Amino acid sequence: MGPVSLIPIPARIAAAERELSELLLYPQERFVSIIRDIGFQCDLCSRCCTRAFNGHVFLLDCDTARAREIDPESVEPAPFPEFCDQNGTFYVSGYALRAKDDENGSCYFLENNRCRIYDQRFSICRVYPYMLHREPDEKGKIDWRQFAGLDEHGEYHTEIPDGLGEEAAALTREYETACIRQEIAFLAYIRDYFSKNRLRHVQKIYDDRIREFARGGEIPIMVFCNGRLEEHRIRNNRQ
Ligand code: SF4
Repeated sequence: MGPVSLIPIPARIAAAERELSELLLYPQERFVSIIRDIGFQCDLCSRCCTRAFNGHVFLLDCDTARAREIDPESVEPAPFPEFCDQNGTFYVSGYALRAKDDENGSCYFLENNRCRIYDQRFSICRVYPYMLHREPDEKGKIDWRQFAGLDEHGEYHTEIPDGLGEEAAALTREYETACIRQEIAFLAYIRDYFSKNRLRHVQKIYDDRIREFARGGEIPIMVFCNGRLEEHRIRNNRQ
């Protein structure tokens, strides 16, 4: 689990709304041209489906529902919860795909280096490695990132067939838009839920419980999904 944002919720909502407006204004033809210039082609290395390469696979609510239909055990609360209240309960904005306990942390659905549900794979799996959001570079300068893991997987400078760049650009923007909307809905829900239940985020409790979790302790966590919170208790099995 990683650091939590100390920015107040209203400011975070405002920032996410700004990000959403900018995302919607990003010129489609520029994105398509970047996709064509990179000319990425998957070489079936399957690294992108492992925790070692990609951290975790965050799911949109619609994808969580589908994953649960395929196998209820395939999802888990996403890592990096955003909040922890004064009672030690964590809050996170959605679910992620479960990873196996193998050496690379392969996705739950990866078998013999192939996705066993390829035709039903999730939004992020369909758009990866394209992305369209702002991130700091190695010098801390925040700018648009359009591609994940450049030169670390796949083949480059291959010809992108007509229509494919446009399709990838449209799908990626659709995914990023849905992600930001899910985050805004989560933040707005937490703002109201905390106010109604007299809860507040307490950083010290967050840090203490994260240390406890790292040592193998169990923590309560509420996961935001389809406009409500779902209760879980999780234990770190990878200590
Ligand atoms: S669902 Fe399939 S494509 Fe998506 S990360 Fe898992 S193995 Fe890879």
